[in-house]
Amino acid sequence: MTDELREACGVFGIVGRRDAAALTAEALFSLQHRGQESAGIAVLDDDGIHLHKGMGLVHEVFGADDILQLKGYSAIGHVRYSTTGASRPENAQPLYVRSHLGPFALGHNGNLVDAQAARDRLERQGAIFQTTTDTEVVAHLMARSQGGSLEAAFQDALTQLSGGYAFTLLTPNGVLGARDPFGIRPLVLGRLQGMPCLASETCALTAIGADFVREVEPGEVVQLDLMGDVHVLRPGDPAHEKLCAFELIYFARPDSRYGGESIYQARRRLGQQLAREAPAPADVVLGVPDSSLPAAEGYAAELGLRQELGLVKNRYVARTFIHPAQQSRESGVQRKLTVVAEVVRGRRVALIDDSLVRGTTMRHLTRLLREAGATEVHVRIASPRYLHPCHYGIDTSNRDELIAVAAGENALRGLIGADSLRFLSAQGVLRATGRPDHCLACFTGEYPVPVQDGEI
Ligand code: SF4
Repeated sequence: MTDELREACGVFGIVGRRDAAALTAEALFSLQHRGQESAGIAVLDDDGIHLHKGMGLVHEVFGADDILQLKGYSAIGHVRYSTTGASRPENAQPLYVRSHLGPFALGHNGNLVDAQAARDRLERQGAIFQTTTDTEVVAHLMARSQGGSLEAAFQDALTQLSGGYAFTLLTPNGVLGARDPFGIRPLVLGRLQGMPCLASETCALTAIGADFVREVEPGEVVQLDLMGDVHVLRPGDPAHEKLCAFELIYFARPDSRYGGESIYQARRRLGQQLAREAPAPADVVLGVPDSSLPAAEGYAAELGLRQELGLVKNRYVARTFIHPAQQSRESGVQRKLTVVAEVVRGRRVALIDDSLVRGTTMRHLTRLLREAGATEVHVRIASPRYLHPCHYGIDTSNRDELIAVAAGENALRGLIGADSLRFLSAQGVLRATGRPDHCLACFTGEYPVPVQDGEI
């Protein structure tokens, strides 16, 4: 993707392992793409719950000594990028709470659309918040629940809130996992030598050598007890699933699997579908590295064209989104991507990207390709026009910054300096992924969970 969207977070949990902290750290490394602002691990031993968290990447937050000191036999871990709540240390997760029902630690991926209303209500009732996250709303609701256990209080809190979420909860009895009723955010169940674990993506299971068992179903709450048994506390309903389409288009790692196939294969099929809907009069196909390369491969194969390495990414430049101002984003882009002139000189280029959010990088790339000698640049986007902000845990920043909102397709083509510009259709996304439904709200404006706190 040229103008990066930011995933909210990644979660992990495991029970019954003496090396729970080390396994969790390993899992968090593999989930790093889901959040780079902070990382944390909470472990459970006979003395209670112990926590280490901080700002930065996993390897910056956890040295070998930190992991050794986190002794325990069950753990949850979290990597965060803030979509609600500022980027500051107290908002790092897991969130640790001592309640009248016992201690617990909570990790959260996603967004609760009614969290602000719940927070206002709780504050009127005297609740004092330590963070600005919506996750703490769940903690306060749990602390006030009349449910006789942490497990009951957790479910009680979830029934009072809605949104797109995946939670892990560490209690003295093990680890709970929960997914929102539409399964907008992913959560999978695995097993490592008999002991169960939970993760945002299967790449975390692979990283620790665990086997994939199944996806946690939409609306399901599971408990992994300390003996390694998995209990379904609240059954889910797969018929309601509307997994975030952007997990398949961009966020998830290509070596993760969902619905029985790899994300890489899904992206390749998005490219093939795009080629069927919008073939370009091109001599060569280029993908914007890295996330768009599978779609470019599918696009080229479908049209019998060659995909070549025409764009090179400098991996050691800070990610463009880190710069808050548009101007510094532009300079970040210039340092980040360069053109292999021999690939494009004198040729018509089909340039494939997986989405077009702000348009900054694409404008720059079309110019670079022409300067390198491309005779035509046809831009093809392997997702529909991004027109509506996400309220379920993906930072789409300000609606005014979404380039597709501001202009029709032809004006957009002019803005990014392309000879032609086409997008994949929403129906095409469903056709390519082969799943009956997805959340497609940022393309269609049809939000599966009504938005209360935010403005559509
Ligand atoms: S609105 Fe878009 S980014 Fe947000 S959950 Fe739905 S598909 Fe994903």
